[in-house]
Amino acid sequence: MIPISLKPFENILVWLMGLIVVCGIIINTETRTDLPTAALCIAVLLMAINLFSISAVIVVALFGMLVLTTAFLYHGGFDRWESTADFYRDLTALAAVTLLALRCKKMCDGLNHKVVYFSGSQQLSQTGCLGFRSGREQLSWSDQSARIYEYPVGVMPTVSMILARTHPADVNLVQAGFEKAARREGLIEIKHRLLMPDGRIKHVHMTATPLHTRLGYIDYLGALRDVTASKQAEQALCRAQTQLAHVSRVTSLGELAASIAHEVNQPLAAITSSGEACRNWLSRPEPDLVEARQSLDRIIASSNRASEITRRVRALSRKCDPLRQNESLNDIVGETLSLVRHELAHHKINPIIELTAFGGQVNADRVQLQQVIINLIINACQAMDAVDPGERSLSVRTWVKDNEAVLEVADHGPGIPPDVLPQLFMPFFTTKENGLGMGLSICRSIIEFHEGRIWATNANGQGSAFLFALPIRVVNDSGYAAAL
Ligand code: ADP
Repeated sequence: MIPISLKPFENILVWLMGLIVVCGIIINTETRTDLPTAALCIAVLLMAINLFSISAVIVVALFGMLVLTTAFLYHGGFDRWESTADFYRDLTALAAVTLLALRCKKMCDGLNHKVVYFSGSQQLSQTGCLGFRSGREQLSWSDQSARIYEYPVGVMPTVSMILARTHPADVNLVQAGFEKAARREGLIEIKHRLLMPDGRIKHVHMTATPLHTRLGYIDYLGALRDVTASKQAEQALCRAQTQLAHVSRVTSLGELAASIAHEVNQPLAAITSSGEACRNWLSRPEPDLVEARQSLDRIIASSNRASEITRRVRALSRKCDPLRQNESLNDIVGETLSLVRHELAHHKINPIIELTAFGGQVNADRVQLQQVIINLIINACQAMDAVDPGERSLSVRTWVKDNEAVLEVADHGPGIPPDVLPQLFMPFFTTKENGLGMGLSICRSIIEFHEGRIWATNANGQGSAFLFALPIRVVNDSGYAAAL
């Protein structure tokens, strides 16, 4: 239904009536009928309020007074006391109505001004307002709300119209919001999507609060914000961060290439030697099948190990969107250490591993957390390059504290100067000759994406420690994971 504006017709009607009344005044002045001229002047004045500005209304009022005075003089009214009194009475009435009309006009103009500001600011901030009563189909909304839902401005809104525009996957959410209103709950907040008829998706944030109770009902006042632009910017940022994290992960893998090749080579060498042994056992005049079978078992175990390593490397190099699942922090650390083991040996570092975060289930993307741990370990190795090999030590510890699973990578390197500490996690901060300075910044965005925190300290004595803490998740009976 497209509403028709009556404003032009109203204006034409008022002009027409005004013209009729003005003619009436002239004829009345001429013929002096029973209808008082003052009443007609007042009628014209009231019409002028609707059509003209304040100054024009003043001109109309003055014109009315002039007409009254002219009529009074023209008919020689000053000869009689009664007609002079009538003239003053009419003049007073016209003046009083003029004052009241001007006051009214000023208030209306102020109100109109406010309405223009109000709807302008709603349009600028992409926020509409709506009012609804619990259990009632009809509601009211501002023009901006109609624009957000993409209904014609002026159309009578209903709950069904809102549900018709709601994304099918979010209808329950919105209905739950209205049910909350029916239960007379306080603040109601719904973040949901709209599905427009042409298939576009909009993201909106609705907040409603009870306003007042009338006849046992509660009226709610709601604000509806179109957050599509910020949501899209957020998604674009997230995509860019994921891509950046992937590039940095592949770079780290490049740094670990020798280490990974060595890791794969070990089981391959074991396969070769077990294969040769197996052949020897079988080439005997009396083949030793038991020994041959054991050699074959070793071959299978080694090839499984090799394929497990390639699986991990492939997972790290794959470009995919983050997938958060319930994971054990200790498992992730253990798997990561197997990838950097040779790198540590290459740097002549014998790590001290203390994984005590048993039950430290975190809701994490396995690959991204591995990336953070690899980054911290490679940094620690590089920091200890200038330290005497005998003094190099690296400890990797996990523990659970205050519902958080914590990981610490502590080295025995030169430590971090206090003035550098605040800049460590900033993009492009590096003290290395060939450094890019993105590693720790990406680590921070990954940890923050996991609702955790990451920080660095100077260890007591020598070296530095990098720690991150992630909220521990519990899985309740319904399988829904929640932060403790
Ligand atoms: P890059 O390794 O490319 O420099 P990072 O963001 O990983 O980028 O590190 C930024 C800076 O943080 C490094 O240049 C270094 O100065 C400092 N840093 C990182 N880890 C350590 C560490 N374990 N000990 C001392 N300084 C460190």
